[in-house]
Amino acid sequence: MVGVLALQGNFDSHIRILKKINLKHKLVKTSDDLSSVDGLIIPGGESTTITNLLRRNQSLIDGINQLSKNKPILGSCAGLILMSKESKDSRVHNFGFLDVTTSRNAYGRQVHSFEAKINVKNNTMNYDINVLFIRAPKVDKINNDVEVLATFQEEVVAVRQGKHVGISCHPELLDETLIHEICFKGKNEIS
Ligand code: GLN
Repeated sequence: MVGVLALQGNFDSHIRILKKINLKHKLVKTSDDLSSVDGLIIPGGESTTITNLLRRNQSLIDGINQLSKNKPILGSCAGLILMSKESKDSRVHNFGFLDVTTSRNAYGRQVHSFEAKINVKNNTMNYDINVLFIRAPKVDKINNDVEVLATFQEEVVAVRQGKHVGISCHPELLDETLIHEICFKGKNEIS
């Protein structure tokens, strides 16, 4: 059962992906909703807006921090920004589950949105998947214990630290399931 943070943003497209890979989901709006989940998705949207909604609910922030200690969390785009340790913007809450620095909107404005293939690669995997970049952040600093999970034009676009995964773009909007399978189903084999 994967929780999907449903304060703002494109949580519905993540639900579609979870259904596609046969995982149950649960909308998360309060800390009580976290009680029976085995993982959490922090979707894309607007990281400042999600922050404003989170900051009205400290118990939800506490609950997500608690969950992160032993359950996987996946963040896409705004979700990655929230999961990173630093994003150089005090209007954004940084959970710090991923020891990276992100720069908001570094791929340009909404009109500069684009579709691309990113390369998901490590010792045991090598896949190209389709994604959308929509006002995407860049990962500009990676610290200890963070694994590069995907690149696009030599830039890091997805990272993993322990159980947690962050991706700067949107595979879920193009029906790509790989990142969700890696995070929640332990997929990690040669293609
Ligand atoms: N630019 C947005 C932010 O800073 C993220 C955009 C997205 O999630 N597609 O929060």
